[in-house]
Amino acid sequence: TISIVLFTSDLRVHDHPPLRAALRGADAVVPLFVRDPAVDAAGFAAPNRLAFLADCLSDLDANLRARGGRLIVRRGDLVDEVCRVAAEAHADEVHMAADHSSHAHRREGRLRRALQAQGLRLFVHETVRTAVAPGSVTPASSDHFAVFTPYFQRWSQQVLREPLAAPRAVPVPDAVGSEALPARGDIADVSPGLAEGGESLGRRQATDWLRTEVSTYDDRHDDLPGDATSRLSPHLHFGTLSAVELLHRLRPEHGPGPAAFVRQLAWRDFHQQVLAARPSAAFSDYRSRHDAWRGTAEAHDDIEAWKQGRTGYPVIDAAMRQLAHEGWMHNRGRLLTASFLTKTLYVDWRIGARHFLSLLVDGDVANNQLNWQWMAGTGTDTRPNRVLNPLTQAKRHDPDGDYVRRWVPELEGLRAPAVHEPWKLPGLDRAAIDYPDPIVDLADARDRFQRSREHARGGA
Ligand code: FAD
Repeated sequence: TISIVLFTSDLRVHDHPPLRAALRGADAVVPLFVRDPAVDAAGFAAPNRLAFLADCLSDLDANLRARGGRLIVRRGDLVDEVCRVAAEAHADEVHMAADHSSHAHRREGRLRRALQAQGLRLFVHETVRTAVAPGSVTPASSDHFAVFTPYFQRWSQQVLREPLAAPRAVPVPDAVGSEALPARGDIADVSPGLAEGGESLGRRQATDWLRTEVSTYDDRHDDLPGDATSRLSPHLHFGTLSAVELLHRLRPEHGPGPAAFVRQLAWRDFHQQVLAARPSAAFSDYRSRHDAWRGTAEAHDDIEAWKQGRTGYPVIDAAMRQLAHEGWMHNRGRLLTASFLTKTLYVDWRIGARHFLSLLVDGDVANNQLNWQWMAGTGTDTRPNRVLNPLTQAKRHDPDGDYVRRWVPELEGLRAPAVHEPWKLPGLDRAAIDYPDPIVDLADARDRFQRSREHARGGA
């Protein structure tokens, strides 16, 4: 037999159930990646993610070549290309990872029907992207968990499948042609500090992280200047690392650091199962409807100041500039900037989510949209009315101001507490700094938000 392995967001050779299944008993396999313009049109084509993807594809190709194979890359409608390759290779079956987004579901249905018409079977493998498959743990009365804590309890009781070794050999038929691999250098407008992609690098990064930093993760994950989180999110997003394998390598019983990290990986699965059950949560309010956001015309200048990191609140501006420079932002920064846009500037979460997706290298529909909704108070947060105060938060998570000074050079001569509140400097010192005054008064903004919530409750 000849089998096709269709790679999507699972760009690795280690712990890859579809690849191992395709190789079982096969004479040859065709490792295939299709660049589908429909996926780009659906918002994927952010330069940072395309650049990281190019790295991942080159590394996957190199890893397959080291095993006697190569990666076949095609461009076009995914279903048409898989059928075309199947005909060229005289393939018998196709293996791929399950993907629970609504777009992927529709695509899988089309692919299954098209392959059936050609006499081929499609095998879809779970737990390639997530550790626990969406829909496999549910509460008694619903098709998904809407609250994290009970989900986490059930998630923790699941027995994970064993991770799979990378195959030794991947024989690929000669007859199938491939396009040239995309190259990072061909992609314009990439953030200057964007990380490199690829499984080889992701595995090294994970090994270093598990050996050293994870032990202090519990204490340090909110330390903005310490930058002490794993930064593995792009690898988990592109599947250059397997969540199942990572969890097997973690030992929660070894202390609070690994246990806290395991919990974050569970958040990832949590959001996936919410989105799988409620695909509309990618664009509509998940729980409490909220229609009162300021109009985009009225809020235009505030939105631009937020995007450019010129709100006059140093910790917010530092985080937004980190996003622009690296295509990545610390989780505490994401929480603060999202709270600031929605609850302080009172702007629709969708505007912020879209901006994040245009830059984040780990930009992921489930994680991004549902974390945005969580912060906006329309999603799964059990305390939807809480507002994060950027000053208190800055003093707690960046006490000496190192994070602000790293990203906001205008303030590099200031020490804490002035670095977090430059508007309080005496007149001449303030005038010497080319940095905006706050665009909004925090107390007024808090009142506006709370009044709107009371109004919404009264009207409900
Ligand atoms: P670590 O702290 O080392 O965590 C390890 C892994 O756990 C992460 O790589 C990620 O896969 C997962 N994880 C951690 N926190 C969360 C969380 N809250 N929700 C889901 N998974 C989590 N994460 C994305 O992967 N893609 C996004 O597009 C994304 N958008 C976000 C938008 C907002 C407004 C907020 C508040 C959070 C968002 N997150 C997103 C979640 C989180 O901020 C990032 O996963 C994390 O900052 C990535 O850095 P890390 O790998 O160092 O995380």
